Amino acid sequence: MSSRSLGLSENVYTYLLDHSLRDSQACLDLRAATADMEFGGMQVSPEQGQFMALLVSLMGVKKAIEVGTFTGYSALCVAQALPADGKIIACDISEEWTSIGQKYWKEAGVDHKIDLRIGPAIETLASLEDEAGTFDFGFIDADKVNYIRYYEVLLQLLRPGGLLLVDNVLWGGSVADMEDQEESTRAIRALNSLVHSDNRVDLSMLPVGDGLTLVRKRI
Ligand code: CA
Repeated sequence: MSSRSLGLSENVYTYLLDHSLRDSQACLDLRAATADMEFGGMQVSPEQGQFMALLVSLMGVKKAIEVGTFTGYSALCVAQALPADGKIIACDISEEWTSIGQKYWKEAGVDHKIDLRIGPAIETLASLEDEAGTFDFGFIDADKVNYIRYYEVLLQLLRPGGLLLVDNVLWGGSVADMEDQEESTRAIRALNSLVHSDNRVDLSMLPVGDGLTLVRKRI
């Protein structure tokens, strides 16, 4: 996991942030609130959050879903880019972590666009069966061992032409180290292989953050 893009030297990364970030005050405040937390490295990096927001704008997304909200940074970035009548369903198992984000969702004035669902995501996703084919945008950033399950369900929920982002696909580089047979690493490798050969989608794997795959559901 990483809260910054892989493989950039410190000074190049600083330059990138200095010359591209347009943070809202809520983004700055939420990052500051998460920075010193245990597991704070799980937060989406600022440049990735802004990239996701740009994709949401480009796609004209109105209906989004994420699996794995943590302290709510990605949901904040997406919600800020949604139109006034847009909505993101945010799935997480932790009241504790998501409660941190809620304060900043309010600060940004986007809390009404974020529908937080606490519980095992597989159950939340199953409850959305009637909304299959209606989501414009999805983001997977939760427990890696269930990545393939989340991928399959989100692909069903997406509309044709919809965009799904999968986070941590490079997993700190460990996916390329075959001596690493840890369960999460193997699960991410399996998902990466599946997506690569999946003729239901178009894809692009980017070295943004900890590796981000863009998956477009074919029409
Ligand atoms: Ca992540």
